[in-house]
Amino acid sequence: MNQISWTLHNFRHLLKTSIAHKDLSTGKALHAFYFKSLVPPSTYLSNHFVLLYSKCRRLSAARAAFDLTRHPNVFSFNALIAAYAKESHINDAHNLFDQIPEPDIVSYNTLIFAYADRGDTGPALSLFDEARRSGLGIDGFTLSAAVTASSNNVGLIRLLHCFAICSGLDSFVSLEPLNATPYVILSNIYAAAGRWQDMAAIRRLMRDRGVKKKPGCSWIEVDRRTHVFVAEDASHPMIKEIHGYLEEMLEKIKWAGYVPDVRWALVKDGGDIGQREMEMKLGHHSEKLAVAFGLMSTKEGEPILVLKNLRICGDCHNAFKFISEITKREITVRDTHRFHCFKEGRCSCGDYW
Ligand SMILES: [Zn+2]
Ligand SMILES: [Zn+2]
Repeated sequence: MNQISWTLHNFRHLLKTSIAHKDLSTGKALHAFYFKSLVPPSTYLSNHFVLLYSKCRRLSAARAAFDLTRHPNVFSFNALIAAYAKESHINDAHNLFDQIPEPDIVSYNTLIFAYADRGDTGPALSLFDEARRSGLGIDGFTLSAAVTASSNNVGLIRLLHCFAICSGLDSFVSLEPLNATPYVILSNIYAAAGRWQDMAAIRRLMRDRGVKKKPGCSWIEVDRRTHVFVAEDASHPMIKEIHGYLEEMLEKIKWAGYVPDVRWALVKDGGDIGQREMEMKLGHHSEKLAVAFGLMSTKEGEPILVLKNLRICGDCHNAFKFISEITKREITVRDTHRFHCFKEGRCSCGDYW
C-alpha cells in the first residue's frame, strides 16, 4: 500500500469508529482534516460526516456537512432525511425528500416510518401508495410502516393484506425462512384483519421451522437492584405475589372499563387457545410483571420507571392507562420507540405509538 491509500484506509477506519462510538471530538478533528483537503474529497466520506453528526444529534452540523457535499447521491439524502426524522423535524425531512432526483425504497421507508411513528396516517399511506406505484419494490419494512400507520383501521389493513399477497410477502417468508420479521408482519396483518386461521397457519409455520422472535423482556430498578422479567417467566422470587397482585388489579380495572385485547395474546403468543388462557397470557406480559412489581415494592404515590427491549404491546398500553388512574401513580415505560408516561388514565404519547 502506498502512503496515500494507507492514510485513506486509516482515515475511513477512524471515521467509522467515531460514528460507532458517537465520538464527536474525534469526528470533528477528522472533519477539520477533511476540510483542509488533506484527504481527497468523496461523496462516500461526506455521507459519513452527515451520519456522524446525526448520530451525535448535531442536526445543524449534519445539514452543513450535507450542504458541503459536492455531488450528493441518494445515500446523502437518505442520511439527512433519517437525521431529521429522528429529531421529529418531519417538514424538513419531507422537503428534502422532495429534492431527491431519484428516491429509492430506503428514502420512502424512512419518511413513511417517520410519519407512521407520529400517527400521521394520511401522509404515511399516500407515500406508501406512491412507492408502490413507482415500482421500486416494496419490502417488509415499507409494509410494516404502513401497518403501523393504519393502526386500527381494519379496512386499510385488509388492503395492505391484499397488497402483501400480491407483492409476494409470502415469498419473503420462503426467501429468508429463519428471519422472524416477515412472519411477524404477516401475522400482524392477519390478526388486525381478523383472519385468525391464516394467522394461526403462519404461527405454526414459524414454530415448525423453529423461527424464534427476540423474547420480550422488561426491567425495573428498585432499591438499586435491577429486576428483569420475561413473559411467562416464573423465576423471580416474588412471582407468586406478583401474579396475585396482577390478578386483583386486572379485575379492578375491568370494573373501570378495561377490556383485555386478546389480539395481542394471539399475535405475540400464537397457538389455538381459549379466551381464558389468552387473557392469562396477556396478564403475564413482561411489562405487566415489571409494573406490578414496581407498584408493590415502592411507596404510595411514588412514580415508577420500567424499560422494555421491544415495543410495548397494545393491551399493556391500555391496561397501564387504567392502572395509573386507579393507583394514582405515574407509570413510565421506556420502550424501543419512546417514553410512555401514564398518568391519570392517559398516556403522554396520545396513543400514537
Ligand atoms: Zn403486553
Ligand atoms: Zn403511550
